Amino acid sequence: MSPLKKIRAAVSVVFFIALGIFFLGSSLIPPGAGNVLTSFQLIPAISKSLTVAFWPSVIGAVLLIALTFVFGRVYCSFLCPLGTTQDIVYRISRKRKKYKHFGMLPPFQWIAYALLAITVSGIVFGVSLLTGLFDPFSIAGRIAADLIKPGLSLLWNLVNDGLNALGVYTFSHEALPVISLATALIAAFFLIGTTILSWTRGRLYCNTVCPVGALLGLISRASLLRITIDPETCVKCGKCAKVCKAGCIDYKNKSIDFSRCVACMNCIPECPEKSIAYRPARKPTVKEFSPERRELIKDSLKYGIGLGVSLVLPASLFGKEIFPSNKPVTPPGSESVDRFMSWCTGCHICVSHCPTRVLKPSFLEYGLTGMLIPRMDYPNAFCEYNCKTCTEVCPTGALKPVSLAAKQTIQIGRVSLEKGRCVVYQKELACGACAEICPTHAVYLVDYKPGLNGPETDNSICVGCGACQSACPVKPIQAIFVEGLDQHLTAKKPKVSQEGPKSAESEEFPF
Ligand code: SF4
Ligand code: SF4
Repeated sequence: MSPLKKIRAAVSVVFFIALGIFFLGSSLIPPGAGNVLTSFQLIPAISKSLTVAFWPSVIGAVLLIALTFVFGRVYCSFLCPLGTTQDIVYRISRKRKKYKHFGMLPPFQWIAYALLAITVSGIVFGVSLLTGLFDPFSIAGRIAADLIKPGLSLLWNLVNDGLNALGVYTFSHEALPVISLATALIAAFFLIGTTILSWTRGRLYCNTVCPVGALLGLISRASLLRITIDPETCVKCGKCAKVCKAGCIDYKNKSIDFSRCVACMNCIPECPEKSIAYRPARKPTVKEFSPERRELIKDSLKYGIGLGVSLVLPASLFGKEIFPSNKPVTPPGSESVDRFMSWCTGCHICVSHCPTRVLKPSFLEYGLTGMLIPRMDYPNAFCEYNCKTCTEVCPTGALKPVSLAAKQTIQIGRVSLEKGRCVVYQKELACGACAEICPTHAVYLVDYKPGLNGPETDNSICVGCGACQSACPVKPIQAIFVEGLDQHLTAKKPKVSQEGPKSAESEEFPF
């Protein structure tokens, strides 16, 4: 293995493992380290630079573009988690069938350019689905959070059941992550799709679908250093093309389509004539019109037309009205539904890290264009008063980092009490679970009848955490519930400071 390939393999494995651990929500990678890691992922780095001007993200975004400008698409082979996943699949497929020669694959890059145009218009129009659906980082995050994490938890619980049957009670069951079938199916679709493509055609996804690959491919057309074939020494043996997983080497014509090269460097050590190497890009003379420049202009035009078409499509087509929202509650730090839908790419890192599992990927709750972005899953869980984890781990700035004190006054929703369904007011039964669990006393008990207290609410100090709703014993629709706000507000500080809600399960009720 050449030194360059060794470095590439080592860096990609380190990033893949570290990001994998972070995606799965493990505390082995703390939020600070996770933030640095995700600063070297293009879409999150650009997003977080624009949303919260997080300086490691600014450095990461500039560095990734500068590296592409010098060496080509090194991001695709060194840092992209979906790229490394495809490389693993490709490696296994080569082991099973040693001779796997893709030849020069036809350049279907117009698909990727169209998706890049759609991704850019997603950012312009604030439609996160368009930004995150094909982003390789977000796809990898969803595969980890929506498929692997639930699978691992299920496996752990099965092993634990087996140990319990043998009389070993050392370990405890793990709470299963909340699964959304629709989003799990979307994650599975991308996992199966990229696996089939990489098994049969190497990095075809990266060159025909991936908008990040398309953008970096455009930049790499102007790279200062490029992997090229020396026509003087090349003997057209084709060994380089046999190991090229991007299918971008035309050895018969001694040329490489560098915009599709993912800089895996497989070809360099394969050449017996040392004919293939990184070389400074040849500058065309004034009279000579470079074919590469012609390609760059052609691709830029295609991209420009695609972007133009995407931009002139009526905004209502992307509109949030296609499926009307029933006001889901957005997590703290998101500030408003519109802002959240503009910047969340649906990577589901926050979902993996949420300790109470209240964050759940949405399907159509925000409307069609808000698909995949997380929402608060009341009443199945509630937002822990003393937690701000999601705001710490979000790599795009869709959830702004906030202090715990600030988080404890963000009003993400407002409480509503329907006395007609409350067991105290309707059946004259003693309850008060909602008031007992409320961390701010926004729900409190008042005298209702002799010996019977009933709940009342004070929305000025309610933070919308959903604890009351999760504790309410009325099923299937709770008597007390939280409604989402289009724009988060600031709640007044509660008069009595609280530790946070107690477990609703610890209470016993007389019905
Ligand atoms: S602040 Fe709330 S929603 Fe966010 S991670 Fe903590 S418990 Fe989950
Ligand atoms: S809000 Fe959650 S799903 Fe959205 S970008 Fe941030 S971490 Fe990813």
